[in-house]
Amino acid sequence: MRVEPSLQWRPGKRVAVIGAGPGGVSTALALKQQGFDVLVFEKQPEPKPLGGAVLLSVPVLAVLRHYGIDLNNFGSFTVTEFRNNKNQLRSRLPFNKSVEKSFGINGWHYGMLRSNAFAKMMELMPEGMLVPNSDFDHYTQTADGVTVNLKDGKTIEADILVGADGIRSGVSHQAFGDPGLFHVGLRVWLAWCDPIDGIPPQTGRIIHSHKYQASFFPMLHDGKPGYEWWVVEPCEENAPTPADIASHLGKILSKFPDPLPRFLQSTNLETQIFKWDIYNRPSLKQWSNGRVVCLGDAVHPVSPYAAYGMGMAIEDGYFLAKALAGSDLNDARQVSNSFHEFESQRVDYVNNHVEFARKLGNTFHQLPYPLAKLRDFVFDRTSILDRMIRHDYLADAEKMSLMMQELHQA
Ligand SMILES: Cc1cc2nc3c(=O)[nH]c(=O)nc-3n(C[C@H](O)[C@H](O)[C@H](O)COP(=O)(O)OP(=O)(O)OC[C@H]3O[C@@H](n4cnc5c(N)ncnc54)[C@H](O)[C@@H]3O)c2cc1C
Repeated sequence: MRVEPSLQWRPGKRVAVIGAGPGGVSTALALKQQGFDVLVFEKQPEPKPLGGAVLLSVPVLAVLRHYGIDLNNFGSFTVTEFRNNKNQLRSRLPFNKSVEKSFGINGWHYGMLRSNAFAKMMELMPEGMLVPNSDFDHYTQTADGVTVNLKDGKTIEADILVGADGIRSGVSHQAFGDPGLFHVGLRVWLAWCDPIDGIPPQTGRIIHSHKYQASFFPMLHDGKPGYEWWVVEPCEENAPTPADIASHLGKILSKFPDPLPRFLQSTNLETQIFKWDIYNRPSLKQWSNGRVVCLGDAVHPVSPYAAYGMGMAIEDGYFLAKALAGSDLNDARQVSNSFHEFESQRVDYVNNHVEFARKLGNTFHQLPYPLAKLRDFVFDRTSILDRMIRHDYLADAEKMSLMMQELHQA
């Protein structure tokens, strides 16, 4: 049985997207702006973002603004610092004046509740574009088009297929084979709470002890101020969840400076704390295969060390639509050229970020004791961490930001 789209579905313009996460929704919004006909197939009855808060950087905000999101009261601005657990400053992320001026947005990171950011994206989706309860099964492609098969037996004919179905992507698995997912040896507890006293305004801190990370950032939830906070701990795959989460986290946080131990009391453990085991995959060099292309976590799941996975998924959608702009999707050659342009702009950039995030995670959590001691000595007494962050994390993102001239306001 065929899916009957309630929106226009014109040959040469038909894009089927699998997955209504940040990557899939961004792709849909960007492609719609370019005049394509888009349907987004989501396996859940309604799209649900991961729990907790998120940090989004300035180029991502500029993309969202371009889609029509009002950035007033969207997120909370933060100055980000790396510190040790004696509260000694190791690095303060600088702001790039040219980037700030070009986009007309100050700073770099903004914190907000994930569900709030995602709801604003969803509001821009025209009715009928989202097809819920649609679990992707497989696709078949010819030189002229793609047939998408859902698990309930329904099919849809499209000109191209975008796999934005997350870390366990079925589209990516079919297009590129087994992803070889591996547990990175880390578990993250992501939480949020209302404001607490005594924290300098607009300050976010990523703090490391010899083994753990505990961090906090200002953020907005439903337009109101609050804090995102989290703990990263080394952990074996399938390790059982501690029976008493409050006491487990309380013990870790007691070794961190104020205000971190105080966050736990202000957080509802039933509704405001989420646990994640972190998986990754070896980097792919190619994200397209014929008329099929993948983006977001489907091809590059990111360790939260980058705080950029949702951001990169949103950017991917924007860049894909830019590369496809004006293409006749009937024409396999035009499709292939557009996909190659997209890949040339994104694959190396994203892989570098993913690999850097993994390296940073390993450096902070996987070194055996004597090396961990040496690491702390070096990070406390030299500017190496500061230089790594500026060079390996910020420099490329700032360069990309300055090239996104169509989004600049100055
Ligand atoms: C602890 C933690 C902290 C993080 N912090 C940050 C941060 O601060 N900043 C940041 O930018 N990123 C952060 N991230 C990363 C970010 O959450 C992800 O990178 C982002 O959600 C990826 O978006 P996506 O759209 O590619 O995939 P997803 O968000 O996984 O969405 C995929 C969608 O596809 C659907 N789907 C799956 N299979 C099928 C199927 N068979 N058929 C149809 N639909 C399907 C799913 O239901 C889902 O809706 C963090 C991640 C974690 C785990």
